[in-house]
Amino acid sequence: MRCFNHPDRDAIGSCKYCSKGLCPECCADLPIGLACRNKHEALVERHETLVNRARQVQYTAARGRYVAPSFLLLMGTAFCAYGWLLGRHDSLLAIMGVGFLLFGATLLFLNLRAYGRSASG
Ligand SMILES: [Zn+2]
Ligand SMILES: [Zn+2]
Repeated sequence: MRCFNHPDRDAIGSCKYCSKGLCPECCADLPIGLACRNKHEALVERHETLVNRARQVQYTAARGRYVAPSFLLLMGTAFCAYGWLLGRHDSLLAIMGVGFLLFGATLLFLNLRAYGRSASG
């Protein structure tokens, strides 16, 4: 790869923001990667902040992957048990209970597929 600004020079890397090749003279060596000197340094740093924040959100969501499904399954069980224990044949209650159970199971399945079983938390 060649430097974007100096086609006669070899690039030592590429800008994290615009992916253009940079020679030692053109690059700013940030702790998080290379950036176009005096051009994309701030953007690369801000981009990194956004990525880190997104990672944080993803991690929080992964931690909570059992919470909503558990709540729905609990509700479903409660609705079914309530209708069954009272011997009421309350079809609306039973339908709602089954609905909660199905929704909770689906959500649990989707969450596990999205975040994986092995993620910590
Ligand atoms: Zn750049
Ligand atoms: Zn250059």
